[in-house]
Amino acid sequence: MYSLPKIELHCHLDGSLRVETVRDIARKEGIELPTYQVAELKKMLVAPFECTSLVEYLQRFALPNAVMQTKESLQRITFELFEDAAKENVKYLEVRFGPLLHVLKGLTLTEVIQSVIDGMRQAEARYEIKGNIILSCLRSMSVDSVFDVVEAGKNFLGKGVVAIDLCAIEEVGFCERFVAPIALAKEYGYRVTIHAGETGSGKNVSDAIELLGAERIGHGVFIKDDPFAYQLVKERQIVLEMCPTSNVQTKAVQNYQEHPIYQFYQDGIPVTISTDNRTVSDTTMTNEMVCVQQALMMDEPMYQAIYQTSVVAAFASDEVKAWCLAQYPKKGN
Ligand SMILES: [Zn+2]
Repeated sequence: MYSLPKIELHCHLDGSLRVETVRDIARKEGIELPTYQVAELKKMLVAPFECTSLVEYLQRFALPNAVMQTKESLQRITFELFEDAAKENVKYLEVRFGPLLHVLKGLTLTEVIQSVIDGMRQAEARYEIKGNIILSCLRSMSVDSVFDVVEAGKNFLGKGVVAIDLCAIEEVGFCERFVAPIALAKEYGYRVTIHAGETGSGKNVSDAIELLGAERIGHGVFIKDDPFAYQLVKERQIVLEMCPTSNVQTKAVQNYQEHPIYQFYQDGIPVTISTDNRTVSDTTMTNEMVCVQQALMMDEPMYQAIYQTSVVAAFASDEVKAWCLAQYPKKGN
């Protein structure tokens, strides 16, 4: 089952760098690292399995950001992420990143976005994988900065960029602040996915749907404790981008067995499986499948249903969706 085709809808670029690449770029660009030993460096990039919170988990993103400040490095890192995904039979990958994090050495937002698209196109030309880009905005940043990202990405809509996202530290009631820029993004034609319900609040999920028009929710774990949000997600068939290992690390759940993905699936809520961060969570799509299969008895029909849900939920063209569906092996004959 693990070799079946895969669709990944929730993967952060800055959480998914190869450790060797961090070292190589640091050497090339004269960036000082605490260590140049790959094994030691890896310890600094991977969040411990026994993290205490999302806050501790997010600390792992500072170091990679230092090597993501030039066109070449952004292109290389994106290419490698798609290459790694293609090698485990991921057919379609939506990568998200925060353009504002990559302007520390003078790149413009346009150059940052273009470099990531270039890396993606390079991988699409070489491997049997297709992709799109989601622009993430950190909730810790100003509302004005979200407008900046929306404007900068506008010219790339339909040319690699498909959606807008809000991510990072999740405070209860965060949605209200971002109504205006997300509404503008929608007007321009961005699709909307929002990180919500990752650290305790189901209300953030219902707010994201009702105030921001979210079509998909990143994580959404905590609708389990909020009947209103749960019903809303179920009735409107809002797709949850679930990332089991990340949720265990950030203590959204205590262990894989406690993860609600199986109950949600059984109850008709559309769920999908993603890595969140391949390096910070030290995982792959294959590993996420193994964990869900072992802890929650995912069988092949369930996996196939998740694959189909993921294709429907993808912010991709009809043509790409049809191609993704055709990749899944037919039963019988
Ligand atoms: Zn995420």
